[in-house]
Amino acid sequence: MSDSKVAIIGGGLAGLAAAKALKNYGIPFTLFEASKNLGGRVQSDRHDGFILDHGFQILLPAYPEAQAQLDLEALDLRGYLPGAIVFHHHRASLIADPFRKPSAILSTAFSSVGSFADKLKVLALRSGSKMMTYEGPSNVTALQGLRNAGFSDKMIDRFFRPFYGGIFLTADLNDVPYSFLQYLFRFFSESLASIPKNGMEAIPTQMAADLPADSLRLRTPVKAVDVDGTIHGLDGSKLQFDHVILAVQEPAAHRLLKSNFPTPIQARSSQTLYFSADIAPIDEPYLVINGNAEGSGHVNHVAVPSLVQPNYAPKGKHLIAVNAVGRDAHQMTAEKAIHEVIPWFGNEARAWKFLSAKPVYFALPRRFGSPELKSIDKVTLAGDFLETPSIQGALLSGRKAGEALALKLGGSSR
Ligand SMILES: Cc1cc2nc3c(=O)[nH]c(=O)nc-3n(C[C@H](O)[C@H](O)[C@H](O)COP(=O)(O)OP(=O)(O)OC[C@H]3O[C@@H](n4cnc5c(N)ncnc54)[C@H](O)[C@@H]3O)c2cc1C
Repeated sequence: MSDSKVAIIGGGLAGLAAAKALKNYGIPFTLFEASKNLGGRVQSDRHDGFILDHGFQILLPAYPEAQAQLDLEALDLRGYLPGAIVFHHHRASLIADPFRKPSAILSTAFSSVGSFADKLKVLALRSGSKMMTYEGPSNVTALQGLRNAGFSDKMIDRFFRPFYGGIFLTADLNDVPYSFLQYLFRFFSESLASIPKNGMEAIPTQMAADLPADSLRLRTPVKAVDVDGTIHGLDGSKLQFDHVILAVQEPAAHRLLKSNFPTPIQARSSQTLYFSADIAPIDEPYLVINGNAEGSGHVNHVAVPSLVQPNYAPKGKHLIAVNAVGRDAHQMTAEKAIHEVIPWFGNEARAWKFLSAKPVYFALPRRFGSPELKSIDKVTLAGDFLETPSIQGALLSGRKAGEALALKLGGSSR
């Protein structure tokens, strides 16, 4: 076993995956996390019996790293139904996966969201994305790729833009590589968009439970990192490590490493407003998406997590998540959100009670993989920006960083 001193900075999913990998190879480490909780961007709050995730997030259990690193059964996952209810002006249409929701085949085929040919092309996209791996960002943007595949503008604007907008946190499909859309399409086809019984925070909680508690230093922000392995604390202290895994968000990596790390490209933002209601605004747990083209308000999509996991709300109540994405997401107020969804759900929406706002200014990096940024001298990098902006990307980058260092230090897998 190595007696090297190893530090991990950042206790999000990437830092936790790196820690798990080091532990599996018998390499001791110390993990420094700035905030009072582990999990980074994957956290949940408890509020009067409701579970409020920090922004609307889902886990796709088909993610290969989720299968490799998480005990999915213990998370007690349940999924949204495969598809979406699309509102175009005041009219609702259902787009569902005919393989997994055969009862919706007719409504899907004849919905006004796209042509019948569009629906057949979705099936072609599904079979084309089977077993797909991600080899980095394609030169073809998501918009070009969908057009090349023959999808109509109507189908792109009413379905792909808001559905994937909720995942990419931008409605601009020209700002996302087609390869990432196809890659995610694979996991949406293979699994349901799921949430754990006890909130998204159950994911980092489960990962941390496997780690030695005395290796974890919470509330310990690091001020700077030198590429020779020196860590500077906020109080002016210095600690020398033989190796550092830096698993912070892209802008924080730039702040800590200064000129050794490129200036990040502007990140993506989102805001989720949580409401409670006595009656759910929909009967089945589909995502509800805004099929009106860009510029038609703030709301991108609405979800009712308590229809998926009743544990998200106290008995007799429902939790409603109203989501905005992109640069203006933070301008959505509870009043504006209700005003926008009344045409969808009727005046009953006026009775919804506002619970909490979860704005996330740095939600996703705009980088879709950076193989050139893997390590600098004694510092190995980890984080979603190195792979894909997703839970899969964060888990993969952390595991790779931990394993690469463990092998360098002569550790052996247990
Ligand atoms: C609103 C929202 C919705 C999302 N939806 C989905 C989704 O549906 N599906 C999906 O797969 N992904 C989704 N994601 C993306 C996913 O959550 C992230 O890709 C992933 O959690 C990133 O993990 P990470 O470890 O790379 O970074 P982070 O989680 O950001 O972790 C970095 C950690 O470093 C710590 N840190 C920073 N600076 C310092 C310092 N100086 N000293 C010590 N510690 C420091 C931070 O406190 C943080 O804990 C979403 C993200 C958001 C915000």
